[in-house]
Amino acid sequence: MSSSRSVIVIGGGIVGLCTAHSLARAGCAVTVVERNAEGADSCAHGSAGYVSPSHVAPLSAPGMVWQGLKWMTSSRSPFYIQPRLDADLIRWGWLFARHCTPAHRDRAAPVLARLCLEARALFVALAAETGNSFALRTEGLLSLCQTQECLDHEEHGLARLANTVGVEARVLDAQQTAALEPGVRMQVAGSVYFPIDAHLTPRQLVPDLIALLQRAGVVFRWGTAITGWRTEGGRIAAVATDRGELQADDYVLATGSWAPDTVRGLGIRLPMQPGKGYSLTLERPRFRLTKSLILTERRVAVTPMGERLRFGGTMELSGHDGRVRPERLEQIVAAAQAYFPDFTAADFAGVQPWFGYRPVSPDGLPYVGRFARHPNLVAACGHAMLGVTLAPVTGELVAEILTGRAPSIDLTLLNPDRFA
Ligand SMILES: Cc1cc2nc3c(=O)[nH]c(=O)nc-3n(C[C@H](O)[C@H](O)[C@H](O)COP(=O)(O)OP(=O)(O)OC[C@H]3O[C@@H](n4cnc5c(N)ncnc54)[C@H](O)[C@@H]3O)c2cc1C
Repeated sequence: MSSSRSVIVIGGGIVGLCTAHSLARAGCAVTVVERNAEGADSCAHGSAGYVSPSHVAPLSAPGMVWQGLKWMTSSRSPFYIQPRLDADLIRWGWLFARHCTPAHRDRAAPVLARLCLEARALFVALAAETGNSFALRTEGLLSLCQTQECLDHEEHGLARLANTVGVEARVLDAQQTAALEPGVRMQVAGSVYFPIDAHLTPRQLVPDLIALLQRAGVVFRWGTAITGWRTEGGRIAAVATDRGELQADDYVLATGSWAPDTVRGLGIRLPMQPGKGYSLTLERPRFRLTKSLILTERRVAVTPMGERLRFGGTMELSGHDGRVRPERLEQIVAAAQAYFPDFTAADFAGVQPWFGYRPVSPDGLPYVGRFARHPNLVAACGHAMLGVTLAPVTGELVAEILTGRAPSIDLTLLNPDRFA
């Protein structure tokens, strides 16, 4: 297959941008079609910016159904489902529950580890190519536990799983944890340290990638929404947009949590829920961190981004509902105070909340690959909590698929038709 194919990447979020990057490097003529204006936020902008091989357990992990039900009864929990009679949500929930098994975790973890480690290496290469303008830091991640019970649970759960699939995890006591982050007073029993993890500043990464792509000749069609498809003999012949029809040899579906809406009319089943998450960024925090942290019991991510410090968390399944729920933000602030006794609620006063929609598949794995019904349409979506981490490796896989190279990673579990 020729590498001078024309490709339309639908969606200019982090996955679409990284995919355009890999395709352009593979010699394809790439157009990115994004309904928002240039400079608008995507889901990556306010994310925690982790590049996290530590996340080897799929979201649909054993015990998650019970844990989720328990969380739903508490307004202080990091998880919320807005109760509603929605056939897509019910089916998604049923599929999610079916995947919360040890067998699925053990199948998915080596794949996630491989994808994440490959992606981390690609970010290191991108940082070298761009002068590390997006502040990739490779000092690792500490998963903090306030109680010994939590630490034991992490030691026998995530840490053991990570070590099994080749991602180093070290269990540390409170003193060893403090020694790794001496600049901050923490109220913890200990932590699990993942030295291979990294973090970056997404608000810098996104514009830097766009500039890089523009220099590489990638065409951007900002403010252009895909509204439908024209098919001929099972192939996509063109996409309809609110600014007219566009044609290419191949098409990449990178519209994140909107992907099921985008493929409507193509006879494709792509179960996905938007998982709303919030973040709060302090411009002048009380302390400087070197590593990214997880406040494990509260499921809150903490990331240093230059001078700033970002707190992110919560998973809210309430559709694409733009309401900000203050009780969810209060839980992020309460978590910060619980782990870092020097923080007060006043530190967060006046901070503008941000939210984004994670594209959450029911088995905790992204959709990457050709659709059987329309072989010139390739999925690159459904990355849930790992979209920033996995964006570069997704791009490489899509480029391999579209230029006829053998995929460097087995894509069986990522097959976009797996729930068809
Ligand atoms: C609070 C929070 C913290 C997070 N932290 C991390 C983290 O630390 N590490 C990590 O790896 N991941 C993290 N994530 C997840 C990560 O941000 C997402 O998985 C990722 O950004 C998804 O990227 P995407 O490109 O697939 O989707 P999006 O960013 O949603 O991009 C999709 C794009 O498609 C466009 N679009 C949609 N429909 C159409 C259409 N019809 N026509 C044209 N364009 C269309 C949209 O406008 C959008 O720009 C976090 C998420 C949240 C909410």
